[in-house]
Amino acid sequence: MLDLTDSRDEVVGNIRVRRALPTRGRRTVGAWCFADHMGPADVTETHGLDIGPHPHCGLHTVTWLLEGRVLHRDSLGSEQVIAPGQLNLMTAGRGVSHSEEAVDDYRGRLHGIQLWVAQPSSTRDGPAAFEHHADLPADEIDDATVNVLVGSLGGLTSPAHRDTEIVGAQLALRGSCTIPLRADFEHALIVLDGSVRAGEHTIVPGALAHLQPGRDELTVHGDAGAIVMLLGGVPFDERLTMYWNFVARSRNEVDAAVEAWNADDGRFGTVESVLARIPSPTPFWQSNED
Ligand code: MN
Repeated sequence: MLDLTDSRDEVVGNIRVRRALPTRGRRTVGAWCFADHMGPADVTETHGLDIGPHPHCGLHTVTWLLEGRVLHRDSLGSEQVIAPGQLNLMTAGRGVSHSEEAVDDYRGRLHGIQLWVAQPSSTRDGPAAFEHHADLPADEIDDATVNVLVGSLGGLTSPAHRDTEIVGAQLALRGSCTIPLRADFEHALIVLDGSVRAGEHTIVPGALAHLQPGRDELTVHGDAGAIVMLLGGVPFDERLTMYWNFVARSRNEVDAAVEAWNADDGRFGTVESVLARIPSPTPFWQSNED
């Protein structure tokens, strides 16, 4: 029923992440095209998220925390501390830049997930935007508390902006939950804490469990403390070229974005940050050129 793919370990800023999307086996789930499960990690005086100014295009970033604090600053002038249960949603459009920083006085654990949603061609060259949602819809479905980050689930609808038909929700389990699904969506589960059973599968952190379209519900079970993200959407029919922080459609578009950021030509704006600007690496395909 579910198709499980392993996440791969990466380091972002100073924090270990498990990258559940994209992997060799799975590029997208609906328009969801990137999923980094961050931590849990300890934030100390010298060790926090600390990701300096870097650019994005063609995507929304969706940041969600279970523990900790992160300060978001962007080239639109936004400065927003995010806390657990809140949502930061940044739309890159043609270009935006941001930093994700440790909060000065916060010490403790950092645990969360950062997701990207690919923008369709109809909006991906549009303007950048930033939203912070301190209060998202939440309700009980069976033995689960459900927070809807994006889209609709079980009669709840998030106020967060979306360009395509997608859903993103957190389920905090303390038993069984039959999740209502849209049959035209494909879905994925990413476990952030504990372990979750679905059918004959046991899903733990470090994997993505994919469910093909055609089902209108899925029953999951987890002991108290089990936390799982549900992602879903209409299968994304545009072929993506993703490189570093850019979601594009071709290598030429990526080359142009790399050049614009490294030349600081204004396309991605400027972030007021104490952290150093992160230069783009050179795409591997450029190193084969004379
Ligand atoms: Mn970013």
